[in-house]
Amino acid sequence: MEDIRNLEYRELKDLVASFAEKPYRASQLYLWLFNQRAVSFDEMTDIPKGFRQRLKERFYISHPKIAAIEVSRDGATKLLLELDDKNYIESVIIPEEKRTALCISSQVGCPLACKFCMTGSKGFIRNLRLSEIINQVFAAERHIQLQSNRKITNLVLMGMGEPLLNLEEVTKFLNIAADQSGLAFAPRKITVSTAGIAPGIERLSSGAMFNLAVSLNATTDEVRSRLMPINKKYPLKVVLDACRRYQRSRKRAITFEYVLIKKINDSLADAHRLITMLKGIECKINLIPFNTFPGTSFNKPERGVILEFQKVLLNGGYAVFIRESRGDDISAACGQLRGKLVD
Ligand code: SF4
Repeated sequence: MEDIRNLEYRELKDLVASFAEKPYRASQLYLWLFNQRAVSFDEMTDIPKGFRQRLKERFYISHPKIAAIEVSRDGATKLLLELDDKNYIESVIIPEEKRTALCISSQVGCPLACKFCMTGSKGFIRNLRLSEIINQVFAAERHIQLQSNRKITNLVLMGMGEPLLNLEEVTKFLNIAADQSGLAFAPRKITVSTAGIAPGIERLSSGAMFNLAVSLNATTDEVRSRLMPINKKYPLKVVLDACRRYQRSRKRAITFEYVLIKKINDSLADAHRLITMLKGIECKINLIPFNTFPGTSFNKPERGVILEFQKVLLNGGYAVFIRESRGDDISAACGQLRGKLVD
């Protein structure tokens, strides 16, 4: 049996044709599965019973299984989801004044092993399927409906994993998320965050107008390779060239994320190099003071150092924000997701 929510519209059309059903049944199925968030075939009352029965014989509709919920003192909520194969992933609901973002995982674990990230230190298990990415949205929607009258307004692919290394399923997800007959989020409310997989950035340029965030974290290849081993494959120049091409095709500001780590990448020389490196790219810069986790030798810079770093960039003409991660008391902050109940 296959989870029917792994099929995008094109595949539903092929499925409907293989059942010799009328082509418009694919649109009906698509609407039920992704727009109406159907949990059973029985709900699909405008689809003939006989066809529904034949679908049930080959497919099921998965339900997100929430294994644990943790709420931070700052309001961020971490959902631990159990997958059919007993792996676990985490999603984080981040309520803000005017919006509620959902931080979504794209892989179980992560192969990139960034040194400042707990997810990366735990290794890689597998890519998520389309249904497993979508189920994170449905789980979060149901959870906040029960808790408040808020709605998820923004989606950020910034949880466990590197989305551009699971490009096929992530692209299906993005298209459905931004489709008004699908999950119906505005593309400008969807952000894909990458550690700098240059070919993936190029491929994203041909899709809808999503936001791109690039995790930069250093101003020399030497330091970046130490923090992010993927830099040996896609060094700074290659990543930034891909960003420039992306921007030429999209005309949209890119967000650069910079995790500030004490005495590693937080010098004023780093700030000045950053200004030079990013010249010509319309962007904003998010400075994220490092979130500590057990076993790391890294530390968060002093507040004064962070503010000085920001000031240099502001004087260089950039929009620069200090993003204190949300949910650090429940290990839901950037780089703290593990996908496990306990170690
Ligand atoms: S920071 Fe992102 S890309 Fe790097 S190891 Fe962690 S999850 Fe993977």
